Parts: sequence; C-alpha cells; structure tokens
Amino acid sequence: MLDLVDGWLVHSAERIHAEADALTRLDQAIGDGDHGANLDRGFTAILATVEAGRPSGEGVEAAAERLHAAGRTLISTVGGASGPLYGSALLRAAAAIRSAASEVSKAELVVLGLEAAGEGVSALGHATVGEKTMLDALMPAAEAARDALDGGGDVAGVASAAADAADAGAVATIPMLATKGRASYLGERSIGHQDPGATSAALILRALADALVD
Ligand code: ADP
Ligand code: MG
Repeated sequence: MLDLVDGWLVHSAERIHAEADALTRLDQAIGDGDHGANLDRGFTAILATVEAGRPSGEGVEAAAERLHAAGRTLISTVGGASGPLYGSALLRAAAAIRSAASEVSKAELVVLGLEAAGEGVSALGHATVGEKTMLDALMPAAEAARDALDGGGDVAGVASAAADAADAGAVATIPMLATKGRASYLGERSIGHQDPGATSAALILRALADALVD
C-alpha cells in the first residue's frame, strides 16, 4: 500500500506542477490567483519527504504514516484555504486506512480513504456539494469509487471511476454560484467559471488512476 500512496503522491506533484499556471488562472478569475502556487509549493515539499525515505511502519501502517505526514506538510507549507482543507483530507484518509480491518483489499482502502477525505474537507470547510468547491469533485469521486467497488471493481477500476467522476464534478462547478471561500465574495459573478479547488482535486485523483497503470 505504501508503494501505491507514494506513486500517487509523486504523480500528483508532477501534475500539479505541470498545471500550476492553469490552476492559478482559474483562481485569478474567482479568487486571488494563488491556488497553483499554493499547491505546487505543498506538493513539492511532499515530494521531498517521499524522496527522503520510507516511514518506519509496515504494510498499511506505513501508508497511513505517509498520508499523515503529507497532510501535515500541506497544512504547514500551503498558505490559503486549500492547505488546511487538503491537509485535513489526508489526515482523515490516514486515520481511515489505519483503522481498517487487516483483510481489507487495496481497492476498499482507496474507497475508505476517499470517503474520509471528503468528510474531512466538508467538516473543516463547513461545506457540502453544490457550493462550487473541491467537494464537488471529491464527493462524486468517493461515491463513484464506492459504486465501482460494490460492482466488483479492482483498485485500478475504483481509481479510474473516481478520476472520471472528479473530472465531471469539476466541470459541473462552472454554472454553480459559489457560497464558500473567496469565490463567494463575487456572488453571481462567480457563475461561469470552473472552481480551482475542484479542478486540482480532479488532477490529484487522475494522478491516483495514473499511478496504478504505471
Ligand atoms: P484561498 O482561497 O485562501 O486563496 P486557494 O486559492 O489555495 O486558497 O484555494 C481555493 C479553493 O479552496 C477553492 O477553489 C475551493 O475549491 C476551496 N475552498 C475554499 N473554501 C472552501 C470551503 N469552505 N470548503 C471547501 N473548499 C473550499
Ligand atoms: Mg486562492
């Protein structure tokens, strides 16, 4: 499981770095233009910790330690709302997989992690779906992942279902009115723009699917 988490974090860092300017442009339209730089800084710091060596635990515990450390890194290095929100997502995902029963499959661990991540963002951000935030990608992704698992999907199937749902969820934020975060200050003028956080969430979930085909 550590290999999967590390592969995902490395792919995420690459995608976020490659798309940082595009994320920044989205945030210039309905925020303050720092989303790409914020996440690039955070994921670059995570990459350095992954390259520095493996956590001390074994099996799922090592993966949970890595996710927890990555969450702490985002919270401490990312200025802006998205750092604590994504950080909380990773801390919750770490706790969820750590407390899962030992016979649980990788596919189910991914589903449990995604569900916990969405709950973490929702709790910290006092937000729900339909408010034009990262939750509009994360929540449908968790649901699609659960459906894929229930349908007999393996870990690659679960991850690609999550990535597809997150992509659709990010696009679906375009006509939404923002009611949380900086974009909400724009009121009706937030309509017609894709949410930067939902877009980065979709990139990060596509990175998970990509990590599984390498
Ligand atoms: P900031 O808004 O502080 O500049 P970022 O630009 O890094 O931080 O992140 C903005 C993104 O954070 C938004 O596009 C949105 O997806 C997400 N976001 C902001 N506030 C909330 C919230 N209360 N709940 C969930 N997501 C939020
Ligand atoms: Mg911003």
